[in-house]
Formats: sequence, C-alpha cells, structure tokens
Amino acid sequence: MKSLKELTRPNIWALKPYSSARDEYSGKEASVFLDANENPYNTPNNRYPDPLQRELKDMIALVKKVTPEQIFLGNGSDEAIDLVFRAFCRPGIDNVVAIDPTYGMYQVCADVNDVEYRKVLLDDTFQFKADELLAASDENTKLIFLCSPNNPTGNNLCRKEILTLLEKFQGLVIVDEAYIDFSDEPSLTGDLKQYPNLIVFQTFSKAWGCAAIRLGMAFASPDIIGILSKIKYPYNVNRLTQQEAIQMMHKHYEVQRWVQSLLNERERMIKEFAKLSCCTHIYPTDANFFLTKVCNAKAIYDYLVEKGIIVRNRSGITLCQDCLRITIGTRPENDALLEALRKYKP
Ligand SMILES: *Cc1c(COP(=O)(O)O)cnc(C)c1O
Repeated sequence: MKSLKELTRPNIWALKPYSSARDEYSGKEASVFLDANENPYNTPNNRYPDPLQRELKDMIALVKKVTPEQIFLGNGSDEAIDLVFRAFCRPGIDNVVAIDPTYGMYQVCADVNDVEYRKVLLDDTFQFKADELLAASDENTKLIFLCSPNNPTGNNLCRKEILTLLEKFQGLVIVDEAYIDFSDEPSLTGDLKQYPNLIVFQTFSKAWGCAAIRLGMAFASPDIIGILSKIKYPYNVNRLTQQEAIQMMHKHYEVQRWVQSLLNERERMIKEFAKLSCCTHIYPTDANFFLTKVCNAKAIYDYLVEKGIIVRNRSGITLCQDCLRITIGTRPENDALLEALRKYKP
C-alpha cells in the first residue's frame, strides 16, 4: 500500500479540524456547563451530544472485538461512503473501481464528488477476480469498493480474492458488510491488523433493526479512522441515536433471535419460491433478501403492488434482467407474498 499521506487529499491531510466546546472539555466531573451556549432548560436534549461517541464506541468495540480507535460512527453508512470520497479522492483527478452490479450509493457519491467511477462486471456466479479490478485501476485509483454479501445479488464475495486484492492493491479496499450478520462468513474486521489498507463498513439498519436511527460504522486502522473523524460534522451522531444504539447493544440476544428467525424464513421462502411457476431461478444468498429471476419482472411487480405487496424490481440493473429482490419479512408477510404469487396468472 502507498503511504496514507500519499493516498489522502493534501487539503485534508493538512486540515485542522473544528474544535468544539465538548472537544476542549469533555470531563464529566464538572457540574456547571457554561461553555457551549446551550440552553440550561429542557434536559437532556439541551446538551450537545458527545462528538467522540465514547460510550457507544466502547460498547461496539466489545461486541465487534476491535478497539474504539478502529471505529468511525456516522449518520448511516451513507455518511462513511461519502467521507471516503471526500478524504481520499481529488475531484476531477482521482478515480475509484467497483464491482458491477452492486449498491447504488457508491456511484452516487462518486458523481457528487466528481470522481470517476470505474465498473468491473461480476461473472455469472456474481464473483470477481482481483486481477480484473487491478487491471481497471491506475496510479490515480484511490479506492476499490466491494460489498459482501453483495446487494442486490445476495452472495458473499470470495474471501480469497478479497485478500489477494488487499495484498496487491496500492490504495484502500472498502468492504461493505451491511448484511454480514446474516452470513456464515466471518467479518473482515478480524483482519484489520494484517491489512492497513482495509476499511469495513457495517450498519445498524439491517440485522440490528434500526434503519430509522441512522447509524453506520466504519472499521479501519486508527490512522484512517483519525482522518474520517477529523472531517466529519462535529455532532454527526445525535444523542437520541447514541442512546438508542446503546439500548440495542444491551438487547444483543434479541437481535440474534431476529437474525435466526429471518434465516429460517429465508430457507422456507427459497423452498417455496422454487415451486412457483413464475419463478425461473433463485440465486444463492447470504443476506436477509434473495434475488430471483421470474418470467416477467415488471408484470409481477405491478401485480404485487396492486395487492399492496412491494418487492424491489431490479430488472434495470446489470446482469439482473427480469430479477426481483425479495426482502425476508415476518412469517405472515412472507405468506402473503407466496399466496399472491401462487395465484398469479401470466
Ligand atoms: C442497506 C445498505 C447499507 C445501509 O446504509 P445505511 O446508510 O447505514 O442505512 C449499506 N450498504 C449496503 C450495501 C446496503 O444494502
């Protein structure tokens, strides 16, 4: 890997971050806080939240078996995705490489930041070759985006190829693990020490059942985390979100129960889909959704909407012609979908 200084935009490397009142005094001993122009009434929402999110990071560190210095927390993974562009990619000069198809936000953030987005097609099992991604890169390629389990295809990417890429690529490799809790593969957070160019994204929006609170995580070397932390908005994760996430960490066992029942339902749904006449293929999945090829995606999508059941039509996506993406719901929700599809007449 190149040095972090070479990979970081020079203005960001030189940046002196905004120093908030809570950065300058963050102790708890004081009882009189007259430093941040807050209103003394309306406790506790009158106070600015902890800009360093220490209590929450300490808990996440325990659960994820990393150190607090290896954690960045953002307003959803979306914030982390945007920040890696702003930290490492010079607009109009640098580029990034990504697999195709994958999550649409990487390209949107590339476009917003005026950074060239280079796509490399997955093969027919939705896997990639490290050498093909390297061949698409040049000296201005700062980031490579992977997503495992991948959205919208659902499958894990081959671990061996990811590690090869981490060893050979001179820039940073981002592995988005939004769906890792539904997968049998271990998270790459266990490999952070060995690969200083690795950034792993996770989120509270899926297995944790907290899409509404907007909390995303990035795990990387303390040096990379330091750069992201210095350019984030000072109070990017609000107090309500920090509090709710801390409550969720105490209910860890409940999340595991949700995941287990979603995995059971996933297995049942795939078996039932295989019997449907309108379903022509089901792609293997390691996530809380699956991709299925159907006889006519648009017609079936419209038919389901009519019945008040919404799935995702992925027909317009590369390699996904006539594919629907089905999120696993509760048993009654899944039954409603199956019942509707059994009655479908093309
Ligand atoms: C759902 C999803 C996310 C989550 O984004 P948040 O901003 O944290 O809600 C991230 N990456 C992928 C690939 C996803 O599918």
